Amino acid sequence: MIKTLEDLDLSHKKVILRCDLNVPLIDGVITDDGRIRASLSTIQKLQAQNCSIVIIAHLGRPKGKTISGLSMRPVAKRMGELLNQEIIFTETILGNEEVALKLKPGEIMMLENIRFEEAETSKNETDRIKFATKLSAYGQIYIGDGFGAVHRKHASVYELAQLLPHGAGDLIATEVAVLENLMSKPTPPFGVILGGSKVSDKIGVISKLLDKVDFIAIGGGMAFTFLAAQGKQIGTSLFEEESVPLVQDLLARAETLGVQLILPVDVVIAKDFSNTSQSFLVSVDEIPSDQMGLDIGPISAEIFARQISGCKTAFWNGPMGVFEFDKFQNGTKVVAQALASMSGMAVVGGGDSAAAIRKLGFKSEDFAHISTGGGASLEYLEGRQLPGLIALS
Ligand code: AMP
Repeated sequence: MIKTLEDLDLSHKKVILRCDLNVPLIDGVITDDGRIRASLSTIQKLQAQNCSIVIIAHLGRPKGKTISGLSMRPVAKRMGELLNQEIIFTETILGNEEVALKLKPGEIMMLENIRFEEAETSKNETDRIKFATKLSAYGQIYIGDGFGAVHRKHASVYELAQLLPHGAGDLIATEVAVLENLMSKPTPPFGVILGGSKVSDKIGVISKLLDKVDFIAIGGGMAFTFLAAQGKQIGTSLFEEESVPLVQDLLARAETLGVQLILPVDVVIAKDFSNTSQSFLVSVDEIPSDQMGLDIGPISAEIFARQISGCKTAFWNGPMGVFEFDKFQNGTKVVAQALASMSGMAVVGGGDSAAAIRKLGFKSEDFAHISTGGGASLEYLEGRQLPGLIALS
């Protein structure tokens, strides 16, 4: 059992809050503040209980080095704007305990990118414990709310949680409830739509969900390894050769189980990975050897959309094409529209899919739930034990 905010005595406590504020940044400008907004509910509930809050979070993968482009400063500024209050930002990670202890109820301090410290992500458990012990001086209670980081055995996610009384914030509590519902009692028909670039990241989840779903539709770059496994020529499209045996296994299992594994029938191709490259629409049987598939075609998008519209439950992770380029975003747009319009529960599995729906102008209210953690939600659905959740149990 994981305790939630409602189960804990939080009144006037000094809280350490681990958030996932890993937002996309270009030249220090936040291009999508979804993860900051998603963290506000827990923060405001803590403030309502007169807690002072020390926020720990990370940005990117600085690998233990201080990288100015990955500073949390713009995140602290944006959070301050959204909460309409000053966030005290510390340029160092350790050594601010005095300031933390003097925080008044409702005040918030945010530490610099926790991954600037090598010990945060160290493989050496003793190093992580030592570091977490130092961090524990920042508060009396630990609240884990960084769902996007719960699949990482990192000091501020795993060890620190166990050093203090702990519980989950709203974000983690909601994520777990939604994903658990998907796994244990999805209302049929249940469809899963997967895309993105890496097949290897998604094989586990396909395998786990295969006997729970009515169909799995596969688009994005990962579809080409499936098409190749069926013997098709895929030109210079993304291809993970080492995944072919597992993919063939999945195709065979799906057939035995009578589960539809729906692959694209047409694709938008281009010679180069670029928004300016001339694009063509072809059937998946006609991909020239010097071209790559960068989006599913309109017929495929329509097939996927029709399947989705019949669902009572749907889970989507990964864009159908290179949605970052306008030319190759149609497939993702059609799939997102179908999910937004369906009458049942549509769950968007974080990361790039969440960024895609915002970029394409959809609202979060159009979907039952948008996960903040792409990798974490996939690993949860795979049935893996996630360190950040074990630590909070
Ligand atoms: P992932 O992290 O595996 O979910 O992959 C997300 C990324 O996949 C996005 O940045 C997309 O641009 C990329 N993507 C989607 N479709 C394709 C494709 N057909 N070829 C190359 N990259 C793709």
